[in-house]
Amino acid sequence: MNMNFRIAPDSIQKLSLLDDTLRFEPAGDQPMAERSASPSRAPKPLPCISEVTTPTGKKPILKAMMTTACERNCFYCPFRAGRSRTRRITYTPDEMARTYDIIHRAGLVDGLFLSSGIIKGGVSTQDKLIDAAEILRKRYNYRGYIHLKIMPGAEYDQVRRAMQLADRVSINLEGATAERLAALAPKKDYWNELFPRLQWMSELRRKEGLRAGIVTQFVVGAVGDTDLELLQVSEHLYSRLGLRRTYFMAFHPVIQTPFESLPPVSPQREFRLYQASFLLRDYGWSIEDLPFLRNGNLPLDVDPKLAWAREHLLGHPIDVNRAERHELLRIPGVGPKLADAILAARRRGRIREIGHLVALGLRDVEKASPFLLLDGKPATQQLRLLDFPTAPSLPRTCG
Ligand code: SF4
Repeated sequence: MNMNFRIAPDSIQKLSLLDDTLRFEPAGDQPMAERSASPSRAPKPLPCISEVTTPTGKKPILKAMMTTACERNCFYCPFRAGRSRTRRITYTPDEMARTYDIIHRAGLVDGLFLSSGIIKGGVSTQDKLIDAAEILRKRYNYRGYIHLKIMPGAEYDQVRRAMQLADRVSINLEGATAERLAALAPKKDYWNELFPRLQWMSELRRKEGLRAGIVTQFVVGAVGDTDLELLQVSEHLYSRLGLRRTYFMAFHPVIQTPFESLPPVSPQREFRLYQASFLLRDYGWSIEDLPFLRNGNLPLDVDPKLAWAREHLLGHPIDVNRAERHELLRIPGVGPKLADAILAARRRGRIREIGHLVALGLRDVEKASPFLLLDGKPATQQLRLLDFPTAPSLPRTCG
């Protein structure tokens, strides 16, 4: 903890006790990076502050809970009722807002992610979350980023108020279906407590123009769920309810929970799910396009877009000068920005060289070229003749 800032020690001590228990609750655009401690990074001033990637750059975000006590018993959760190893810490709304204001003014954080265990029901708990955000906005005149959790069973007016106060709201479905949720969290009710709240959020955005983005999260791999199930519900949430993001959390066992002896799920599975979900959200793909194995999961050893291209485009490369946007988006290494840049460049003249594509933003020439025709010829011919520098491909994107 950084002792160079003069603030109320009790509040800060409580934040220290929160530790980084919310590291598995993603808040930004690179959820896997949020929870991996990079050795090159400076030590955090408080363990519950995470570097989060947002559309406006990386920000230190405080991930806090109104209370780490909970009356529910979700099988995977460190905060579940009766778990003696969990230190129970509770804030009043006033105290949470004041504490955040202090560390924000000290320059330690630039955003708040606020969740809670459930005590005396979802409605009462939601009131406390809303009160904390309300105090922060009104008394402390805070204009920055707030992500508020919506509690299972929260009322319609509470969801509306949360969306008026926050930049982002979320309620975790946890399971892809009601049956999967029952196996993960027997006291949560998919169709009565969770899914309708996502529908309300979507309706409030549509009908009342509320701008808060909507996200949800799934626990992956603890109870036999398949990637097909998870991506089917994600596709529905993107296309019908306009969710900004579905997060996937590869299951990891927590001691002193009913799932403590289950094996952890590979982070690679989580990574492939993200790649596939971006194809559904941003690339115009449908579930039928994804290369599922017979067990309903994606192959772990290959990016789903590359697997599709190897099956469908080898021997039938895409002509960069004639393809429609949705066809360009089938080429490994070509994302929405590059597809748009190619279309704009074509209006100025033909694209004849790989170097032209590199100048437009193609990062991984070797990955893309087997699936491209340039000026009627396979792009791989140019690759053999010329030694183009290949910029490193970024993790997390599908391209
Ligand atoms: S309701 Fe939330 S905090 Fe409580 S046990 Fe379930 S996941 Fe954990």
